[in-house]
Amino acid sequence: MNVYDASRMEDVLAPMGYGAADGMEGADLVILNTCHIREKAAEKVYSELGRLRQEKAARAGTSRPMRIAVGGCVAQAEGEEILKRAPFVDLVFGPQTYHRLPLMLRELDSRGQAVVDTEFPADDKFDQLPEAGRLDGASAFLTVQEGCDKFCTFCVVPYTRGAEFSRPVDPVLREARLLAGKGAREVTLLGQNVNAYHGAHEDGSEWTLGRLIRELAEIDGLDRIRYTTSYPAEVDDDLIAAHRDVPALMPFLHLPVQSGSDKVLKAMNRRHTAGDYKDIVARLRDAQPDLALSSDFIVGFPGETDRDFEETMSLVREVGFVQAYSFKYSPRPGTPAADMDDQVPEDVKSVRLQELQEELNRQQMAFNETCVGREMQVLFDRPGSREGQLVGRSPYMQAVHATLPATRMGDIVTVMIDRAKPNSLSAVVPGKQEAVA
Ligand code: SAH
Repeated sequence: MNVYDASRMEDVLAPMGYGAADGMEGADLVILNTCHIREKAAEKVYSELGRLRQEKAARAGTSRPMRIAVGGCVAQAEGEEILKRAPFVDLVFGPQTYHRLPLMLRELDSRGQAVVDTEFPADDKFDQLPEAGRLDGASAFLTVQEGCDKFCTFCVVPYTRGAEFSRPVDPVLREARLLAGKGAREVTLLGQNVNAYHGAHEDGSEWTLGRLIRELAEIDGLDRIRYTTSYPAEVDDDLIAAHRDVPALMPFLHLPVQSGSDKVLKAMNRRHTAGDYKDIVARLRDAQPDLALSSDFIVGFPGETDRDFEETMSLVREVGFVQAYSFKYSPRPGTPAADMDDQVPEDVKSVRLQELQEELNRQQMAFNETCVGREMQVLFDRPGSREGQLVGRSPYMQAVHATLPATRMGDIVTVMIDRAKPNSLSAVVPGKQEAVA
């Protein structure tokens, strides 16, 4: 979502003459679009600001001064505090106010003093944003939902992104058509809690995510639809049916489970048990037998015992994932879990994370190996690191490398997978003899 937000910031600033620069040296304005989800991400902001401060100082008094803005969820969470720690920052704004960037810049000019705008405005920022501008490759992001009301006890999202909000159906469809018109072949629908989508339709009805996906699949040129990230307890029959009925809906789903222990899940306020999760997966696989699953895991949540962790391991072995993200629990200021007793020592978290990641990596590699010898449709959307090579995504989100002319960029090509690596596949185009390294 930060990638999407950053491109929308570009759209907002374009009428003022701003465009993307290659690096801070060429920039009049540097925006750090920040993430607050774990401490590590938040800490990066201050080390990055240290570098920017030097550049800004070096340019002070020259004809090309530099301004520094901090946007995103660290800005939302820390607000004025950022100016205390980094007084050389010019703008601080949250994820719900970036449509007001031109206003903030004008205020900065007239006041000559740092501007902080971290409100949750009543107006819908999407109404204020210009049409989506530049398309970066054949695969596009489209935010349909933002915020979260679930209050998992570890998570900052409800505090930084705010309450759940679904964009109405019409502007979403309009944006999707616009993206398709600009050459997008794939769209990934975004939301912190994307399957809680309930967008208002002009006829007064409310659309679920499943309904929206069906409609998007009708748009000419949009051959692939994905969505992320989903909350297990919000997977409904409509969405499951879409996985069965809509060929454009890719057979890959990122569905965070966090833990396999019911005790831990309860303490996390996840509203699903390990059994519920397995049931949902079974229903999804029933609808789409080819479905490949990805997930998020947290190890070392307060109170997690060896036995609880073992339950996570056994869920992983039972469900099977083709890829996953896993994290050590990171206490976040203001969240209930940060104040819970029984915080798990760092060294225990490290050992558990390593054991979990070994199993997840093993499953990922095993899945990649099953792909060798298979034909797959790959959407090539990036140049590869080698000359004459393109990189794309398989239906299951694997990166696939193949030797193809640059003219095939943006195409969905049927290729034969000939090699599996831990994090990617390589392929040849059937009919062509040369193998791809
Ligand atoms: N609602 C979004 C949240 C994204 S955060 C979603 O479900 O994707 C992505 C992942 O970061 C979460 O699924 C969780 O596994 C992890 N995470 C969130 N808060 C965390 C914390 N305090 N410590 C460690 N990992 C965390």
